[in-house]
Amino acid sequence: VFIAFEGGEGSGKTTQSRLLAIWLRDQGFDVVQTREPGSTKVGMRLRAILLDAAEKGLSPRAEALMYAADRAEHVEKVIRPALERGALVITDRYVDSSLAYQGAGRALDPADVAEVNAWATSELVPHLTVLIDTPPSVGLTRLGGAADRIESEPLEFHERVRNEFRSLAGAAPERYLVVDGTLPLDEISRTVQDRVREILPD
Ligand code: C5P
Ligand code: MG
Repeated sequence: VFIAFEGGEGSGKTTQSRLLAIWLRDQGFDVVQTREPGSTKVGMRLRAILLDAAEKGLSPRAEALMYAADRAEHVEKVIRPALERGALVITDRYVDSSLAYQGAGRALDPADVAEVNAWATSELVPHLTVLIDTPPSVGLTRLGGAADRIESEPLEFHERVRNEFRSLAGAAPERYLVVDGTLPLDEISRTVQDRVREILPD
């Protein structure tokens, strides 16, 4: 079973993916909790470049390809091997982040970004994507000003990102759980657990 968490800056998806991993491990499941970008050796180097404020002028196509390269390595070295041995895999960000940030955010053709990523992942699609939907004004305030290259983009950029996440979820509701990210932590985690319970192996 492959589960992805998606959402904007400060949405709480990292916290929620951790809480879900703990809950599943408590039930005896083999769980691999991972994140993008930067969960492989090369991925860590890509992450450093991608988040570096000094790379402000990075071209959108180069950015999209680097995220896709990070993801290809992630799928090949971490996600697929774990799924093959029967582990549950939880990733903090996946393809939807590229559709939202590089597609909607950077105004690349979403069909191109989708195609590059389908190839990069050899079409590995999560069984469930949990979208922690949070207004950017709330999320960015939670971060308290700590800004990497993307976080420091204008609010309007983050609004486009949010809208894209929501429309991706709306287009395939059976593969998504959308949770209001402004709700209390434990309420969100219970909602996530209820949905994940439906797709757990016996
Ligand atoms: O989730 P986290 O905040 O660690 O993500 C790192 C940064 O990478 C974020 O600022 C996020 O906006 C950015 N990002 C991106 N495009 C992606 C994935 C992440 O711009 N496809
Ligand atoms: Mg961040």
